[in-house]
Amino acid sequence: MHKQPGGHLLTWLDAMKAQSPPHFNSSTLHASDHDHTLESPQSCTYDMQLRESAAATAAYTAWKKQCPSAVRMFKKLMVEAKAKQVVVFLDYDGTLSPIVDDPDQAHMSDDMRAIVKEVATYFPTAIISGRARPKVYEFVQLAELYYAGSHGMDIMGPADATNGFKAKGTRVKDKMGNDVVLFQPASEYLPLMDEVCKILSESSKGVRGARVEHNRFCVTIHFRRVKEESWGALAEKVENVLKDYPTLNLTHGRKVLEIRPAIAWDKGKAVDFLLSSLGLADSSEVFPVYIGDDRTDEDAFKVLKDLKHGCGILVTSVPKETKASFSLRDPHEVMEFLLYLVRWKKQELDGVKNGSKTSPCI
Ligand SMILES: [Mg+2]
Repeated sequence: MHKQPGGHLLTWLDAMKAQSPPHFNSSTLHASDHDHTLESPQSCTYDMQLRESAAATAAYTAWKKQCPSAVRMFKKLMVEAKAKQVVVFLDYDGTLSPIVDDPDQAHMSDDMRAIVKEVATYFPTAIISGRARPKVYEFVQLAELYYAGSHGMDIMGPADATNGFKAKGTRVKDKMGNDVVLFQPASEYLPLMDEVCKILSESSKGVRGARVEHNRFCVTIHFRRVKEESWGALAEKVENVLKDYPTLNLTHGRKVLEIRPAIAWDKGKAVDFLLSSLGLADSSEVFPVYIGDDRTDEDAFKVLKDLKHGCGILVTSVPKETKASFSLRDPHEVMEFLLYLVRWKKQELDGVKNGSKTSPCI
């Protein structure tokens, strides 16, 4: 019989489930589609779903009082950003792209790419992801951005950005011969991560739907396509491999477990690093905006909260405990927010050009 995984993993599995609660499709709950005159098992199920859906909506509405919509509050938010240097940090999965079952298919839309490109024209812009940096670049395909892959353990960006910013750091040439800055605080861990990925790929073969992804400085184990009754078995395999690697840590995200070097480095540290390499650290004249949907983004929200300027925006359609100050429901709303941001900047620049002292209106 399959034994239960250890205490830590049970907590992680519960947390993973809590981070991916079921979503109710309102279109399937339309009253006219159903006959309620008879108390059939189907109508009972339907009533139950309807009540749960109403309760979920009420809970989300109540939660948004503490973490209001960044789109609805945009004007108020930008009053704080006025005359400051806005810096934009974006998570990738679930923020710029929808969450999908196959991580290789998490493509962003052309419209989203176009608006991110425009954002980078006006503001220093970075993508901070748990994925391998080259993989995120493959999805985003914009040379003007900074990319922090593997939760910020692998950072690269233009040495001289189109928006005029020059980043400090190790200057190297990328594959295309462009001058870039590179920062890899955990480079000595690379052979170890290769080894762990190989062992885990082999040992997880017996669990249907399991997927192990090598994200260079982070190995990600995907549970999304694994039946819930097999989650314990997969988690146990991860735990067994990890026992032999005391210099590695295990963390969890949305239906993923992740193995990373046990060094004090996370998305928050990546934000700190990028701000200082752009010469923008410790400045009250800077307004960093960070948008992300995952537990790992909380490290960055905390950094912004401690800085006491800038804002963290959590992407979620359900209530969550967070250090972010604002929220957006999904990638569509992220796109809307980015459009507002570009329009705000254009109006600000037009105002300066025309000698106007009035605030831009959105
Ligand atoms: Mg994400």
